[in-house]
Amino acid sequence: MNTKSYKQQLLDELYAPYQKCMQCPLGGMGRTNVVFGEGDPDANLMFIGEGPGRDEDLQGRPFIGRSGRLLTKVMEAIGIKREEVFITNIVKCRPPGNRKPLANESNTCKNLLLFNQIKIIRPKVICTLGAASLEGLLEEPVKITKIRGKELNFENTKLIPTLHPAYVLRNPKALKDLAGDIEKALELAKKTPKAK
Ligand code: URA
Repeated sequence: MNTKSYKQQLLDELYAPYQKCMQCPLGGMGRTNVVFGEGDPDANLMFIGEGPGRDEDLQGRPFIGRSGRLLTKVMEAIGIKREEVFITNIVKCRPPGNRKPLANESNTCKNLLLFNQIKIIRPKVICTLGAASLEGLLEEPVKITKIRGKELNFENTKLIPTLHPAYVLRNPKALKDLAGDIEKALELAKKTPKAK
């Protein structure tokens, strides 16, 4: 079996017990689908957002609404295809009204799913989208407009934080920052050897 299908099998095994997850309160708050994530299970670059919105909840796929269409456009302009990367979120269930996930929701979900996804996929570079996603990994408050684009580390994996595409939709001048940071993450992934 090649690495890709082996990793896909590990991801499928990881997701199996959580198809109707009730491990945190978001499970009982009107969720339609648990949005685990999608893309290449052997991706060099992994994008992590905050949590599914309405469209994502209905279709069970990450970043496919307005923010997702902008993200996809930016990736394509840089020469990245969605299928080549892995896209997921800190929490896999939609918070009601798209509110920020609460600490207990983020902690439960990242420990059960996100951290295991990272261990299986072993991306060369993680690109977090928005403050909530970076705060979810670093477990400290951040000023995203200050820290974006800087090379950080998350447990031995390189990390480039950037803005959330929803912020860029509200502040179109920030598009160049989002695109520049994603390009930086891609270049970093190209020059980073794959972990054994
Ligand atoms: N916003 C996110 O943070 N994640 C999605 O999947 C969609 C919108």
